[in-house]
Amino acid sequence: MRGTSTLANSIERSGIRDLMDLAREMSGPIIHLEVGEPNFITPAHIIEAAFEQVSAGATHYTPSTGIPPLRKAIAERYSAKWEKPVTPQMTNVTHGGVNAINSTVLALINAGDEVLVPDPGWPNYRSILSLVGAKSVQYPMTIENGYEPDRKTLEALITPETRMIITCNPGNPTGAVWSEETVRMVLDLARKHDLYVLSDEIYEELVFESEHVPAARFDDDNRVITVSGFSKTYAMTGWRLGWAIAAEPLIAAINKMMEPLISCASSVSQVAGVAALTGPQDAVAAMREAYCQRRDIAASILEPAGMLPVRPHGAFYAIVDLSKTGMGSRQLALDLLSETRVACAPGDTFGQVLAGGYVRISLASSDDDVREGCERIVAFRDKHAV
Ligand code: PMP
Repeated sequence: MRGTSTLANSIERSGIRDLMDLAREMSGPIIHLEVGEPNFITPAHIIEAAFEQVSAGATHYTPSTGIPPLRKAIAERYSAKWEKPVTPQMTNVTHGGVNAINSTVLALINAGDEVLVPDPGWPNYRSILSLVGAKSVQYPMTIENGYEPDRKTLEALITPETRMIITCNPGNPTGAVWSEETVRMVLDLARKHDLYVLSDEIYEELVFESEHVPAARFDDDNRVITVSGFSKTYAMTGWRLGWAIAAEPLIAAINKMMEPLISCASSVSQVAGVAALTGPQDAVAAMREAYCQRRDIAASILEPAGMLPVRPHGAFYAIVDLSKTGMGSRQLALDLLSETRVACAPGDTFGQVLAGGYVRISLASSDDDVREGCERIVAFRDKHAV
């Protein structure tokens, strides 16, 4: 066989996918806590709207920026949330949040540029940056600091090559919801060093107690690109629909990248998206409540065992501390799967901060799976503690 490209050979595979594949190959029941996949089905009124519109002819290519009613609905939602005008021209509908991120990177980042990425952080930021030959520079967010970045550490990593900082708030994998002070600090640094801020806010609607503070609210010179989407808020992962919001010239550049990548997002998904944004929102509140309840279940088991150093306040993940076992995170994830049949994501897939003895569990699985999974993980830690 002919060889594959240097890029394909060099791209990092996600540790989450590795664990998913291993779990899938095993026979018998497995408790799946490794993936961020809501166990809810998309609310019925959204599915029905898609059926109706598709039967009526919504089966064609759409503008690559997205259908006008969807861009309008996105603009209206954010004008209200950010307390400043957002126009439809400042939005671009994408094939999931991931496509908003890769199009933004393609539009704004050159080979050799440095981009600050969160550690712990979603591994796709690093693999997306490798598509353009940019360098990922991870900024640590420590347990002691509740998984929020601190100014000194962040600023020390900025060089003349730095072009962008990627933030994820609420955080995957941490569930941290950043304070307004932290969000303002990042913007302030970006202004001082003339950086773009790619603010991944895909979990913005899944906040349990504190308030989510959008970065764009403090953007007075058009350096923030906000990314979000339908996957997490509306349990619509399979519909593959998201968006980017930024100043018009940035959106025009991002949009240019859509043509070679995807041409446009699915017409079926876009009509569903309009129904999601403009229809009743009770299902969103109900799902948020369910995730919060699972967070409480996990905390009630892990906190007394000293295994939940930071209680998550948003998204649907928790970082579990198994450092007493003395095992690295990859070994932990493998042994947890084979010994207890609980699949978790190894900490090292998110960077260095969690590599020594941490795993991420997803709270998007059922209450029973979260409860049983946490109990087995505590028993595993007790058995292997050194
Ligand atoms: N950002 C983060 C932090 C995520 O966890 C995910 C999904 N796992 C995404 C973006 C992208 O989600 P989607 O492409 O399904 O919208």
